Amino acid sequence: MNPQKPAAKETAARAADAQPAAAPAPAATPANAAAQERRRTPRIPETPPVPAPPARLDDYEPVIGKPELDELRFLAGSLRGKTVKMVNSTAVGGGVAEILNRLVPLANELEVRTKWEVITGGDDFFQVTKGFHNALHGAAYDLTNQALDVFLAYNEQNRQRMEFVEDLVVIHDPQPAGLVRSKEASPGRWVWRCHIDLSTPHPGVWDFLRPLVEQYDAAIFSSPSFTRQLSIPQYLFYPCIDPLSEKNKELEESYLEKVCDDFGIDRSRPVITQISRFDRLKDPVGVVEAYKLAKRYVDCQLVLAGGGASDDPEGAAVLQEVREAAGDDPDVIILNLPPWCALEINALQRISTVVVQKSLKEGFGLTVTEALWKSKPVIAGAVGGIPTQVVHKLTGVLVHSVEGCAYQLRYLLTHPDFAQQLGKNGREHVKENFLITTNLKRYLVLFQILLGVTQPRPAA
Ligand code: UDP
Repeated sequence: MNPQKPAAKETAARAADAQPAAAPAPAATPANAAAQERRRTPRIPETPPVPAPPARLDDYEPVIGKPELDELRFLAGSLRGKTVKMVNSTAVGGGVAEILNRLVPLANELEVRTKWEVITGGDDFFQVTKGFHNALHGAAYDLTNQALDVFLAYNEQNRQRMEFVEDLVVIHDPQPAGLVRSKEASPGRWVWRCHIDLSTPHPGVWDFLRPLVEQYDAAIFSSPSFTRQLSIPQYLFYPCIDPLSEKNKELEESYLEKVCDDFGIDRSRPVITQISRFDRLKDPVGVVEAYKLAKRYVDCQLVLAGGGASDDPEGAAVLQEVREAAGDDPDVIILNLPPWCALEINALQRISTVVVQKSLKEGFGLTVTEALWKSKPVIAGAVGGIPTQVVHKLTGVLVHSVEGCAYQLRYLLTHPDFAQQLGKNGREHVKENFLITTNLKRYLVLFQILLGVTQPRPAA
């Protein structure tokens, strides 16, 4: 279906080196001058907006259809009145809290009585768990007995404080993993939901964690490649996005216009976007280089929007590197956004002609999910969870180099029908696999398996 030749590195490099005439620069009109000025001083909101009311199950009907909703209700039928406790280590910030914030009310609406509790700990605890987190991702770590004691002491403190009387207990990530010591005396089935990549863990930290994990009845991982061999059953739950959240909901055209106006984006020319923290593993400098190669052939703009550069010294250094790579190119728009800019990010993804996520290392890559959901053609690094989402030349394209990225940019910008088809397929792929409603469905099925219930109970 794709007439494109294999994107061999050589082909791409040749294409890029063939020195065509540069794409003509846009005329210097007064409107253009205003946009240039806006690019230098974008209007970025300084305060968080008022939070939107939470979505109800019925609100999802236009998005996923009635049969899907009916299926959720049917599955929940046999769990009606059952009780669930979810436990993690933070109520705000981070993907886990974001998912629980949506998942817990939906489960309750289905009458699966679900509570969410957060463990507490001092700075010393969170310092240790941050060290564990990085070590489990493979970073060097000096594991001390003192760190183990701190971890166990806070887990014990929380365990004493909490009650575990529910039918199902789901513990998220390593921080509260030690609560499993309460399992013996509790009536419920226990699940460990691991959101991190355990493929190359620090041996000492994993040796410590593993005996705790193996006390659970089951474990859930986000990708087959993130798992370890365990003595307990394992399940695969992909991460997910909420199609009704501020980051993903449909937006009015007038709002898209406003955001373009605020940031000085010219919608009459193609827009390439990468949304990411300013982190070297997201390769923003590589994106600038790829854009510059593609720009020799196609007049376009590049938007690099991200956060993390205000409170993270490394983020600030990477932002500086990106600015230097962009030089004085007026068509590169760099936006350092505060964390409350979900609506702006949504709009940037929606106004993009092509979305890039040129990561060198990645977790699951939720920005890719978000862009695919908006039917955007995506060019992404073939790392982490990205190939699960981007099936090469079907739901997007995968790249391994700056030259490959440049080649694909040029190709997609000059083959809009193919680009549109990728976007369309991408949205279907997300709808099928990576929405919060799919995640909820997986939990319901797992709960049925663990409790051995499959018949719906009559309504009370
Ligand atoms: N994101 C954001 N503001 C930014 C940059 C990213 O809200 O300035 C969001 C982005 O939309 C996505 C998440 O942060 O929802 C990033 O998740 P991803 O899995 O892509 O990467 P991570 O940052 O977790 O490595």
